[in-house]
Amino acid sequence: MARSNIIVVGGGIAGAMTALHLQRRGEQVTLIDRWEPGHSRAASTDYNRVIRAISGRDEFYTRWARESRARWLELMAETGQRLMYECGALILATEGHCDWEDATSETFDRVGVPYYRFAPEEIRNRFPQFKVDEIKYALFEPEAGLLMAHRCVITTIDLFRKSGGIVKRGTVNTDGSERPMLDGLPLEADTIIIATGAWMAEMFPRTIKPISAIMGINVLYTSTPDGSDAFDMENMPCWIDHGQGSFGIPSSEGSGVKAAVVIPNTPIDINNDERLIERQSMNKTRQYIRHRLPGLIGERVVDSKFNQVILTPDTHFIVDWHPEHENVLLAGGCSGHLFKHGPVFGDFVAGVACRDYGTAERFKISGRRKLTPKESPSGR
Ligand SMILES: Cc1cc2nc3c(=O)[nH]c(=O)nc-3n(C[C@H](O)[C@H](O)[C@H](O)COP(=O)(O)OP(=O)(O)OC[C@H]3O[C@@H](n4cnc5c(N)ncnc54)[C@H](O)[C@@H]3O)c2cc1C
Repeated sequence: MARSNIIVVGGGIAGAMTALHLQRRGEQVTLIDRWEPGHSRAASTDYNRVIRAISGRDEFYTRWARESRARWLELMAETGQRLMYECGALILATEGHCDWEDATSETFDRVGVPYYRFAPEEIRNRFPQFKVDEIKYALFEPEAGLLMAHRCVITTIDLFRKSGGIVKRGTVNTDGSERPMLDGLPLEADTIIIATGAWMAEMFPRTIKPISAIMGINVLYTSTPDGSDAFDMENMPCWIDHGQGSFGIPSSEGSGVKAAVVIPNTPIDINNDERLIERQSMNKTRQYIRHRLPGLIGERVVDSKFNQVILTPDTHFIVDWHPEHENVLLAGGCSGHLFKHGPVFGDFVAGVACRDYGTAERFKISGRRKLTPKESPSGR
């Protein structure tokens, strides 16, 4: 059978994984990005990202995350690259606001995800880094952990190249009918997959912009105490702290402890803003660290990142054909949780692109609505 000629636009984790899966299916794939894959403006940047099955009552993403974990381990074995560390993840359930955490444990029971439930005293004994005065209980997912994000992207691009894929530099835009264009000419290919992350909204002002919002997230890296390994990933898990709108990652490969306090609707100009953390965020994150991780009081900020996510109303990804261009497939809508799902997402998009199956109902462009925190996979 003749190989299809496929163009993937966007070399973040969504595009890179999709390109790799298509190339491995025997298609001829060209990946185009406006910057060098791995660059610091993309969402798929930074040292690390959390990988966890924890998704409230959402069985779909729970299963995808479990499958992705297995795929990341396989990629690690194949490449010899340290892509993932299994340091576990702790979700802290705040007294009076435990719906999402309760739902997560019910889903884990149904799906068969290993976890422990710790009372505050047990959290203090196992993970004394956390001050848990207002915490009712915690769920610990031991097979969760962190992905070395930048390395994951570079390794995927490398595998794609080694399997015969072509990587090119170029800025793809769209004409009045939202047809993809390069250097003033329509992009020509059997199938064109657009995986341009937050940039998808400005490229598709009629199709994607109305169902998306772009938000900036600031993260701080704080030094670990001199002479102590208590905050290293060998001794501390990743954590999610819904009550405080926060999450974090222990120090990995010398990064320092990463903490983010999500301030909803933080604006970001994805083309023009410098990726420098804002003063307001820095103060909030420091306050949070003083509250939750008192062992880091007095420690220094050693690094920081400012990047964007593109949120859909229901926080479900987008994988759907463009309503007017039958060979254009849109793949993204990260909603702040796509990185971990990368290998399964890329495999799924490749199958849709090859028309082996249709997309999932939840990934369609139409019919989006805001979910209640109870329904939502993120609990927000
Ligand atoms: C601070 C922060 C923390 C996060 N934490 C987690 C986490 O713990 N776990 C998790 O699973 N997820 C997490 N996420 C979300 C995750 O990082 C994203 O969902 C994921 O990286 C999105 O990947 P993407 O490939 O869709 O987009 P991107 O990585 O942004 O890639 C898009 C690519 O398209 C290219 N591009 C854009 N426009 C064009 C154009 N016109 N022509 C050509 N190329 C173009 C860009 O240059 C870029 O390389 C986090 C995100 C942020 C910001």
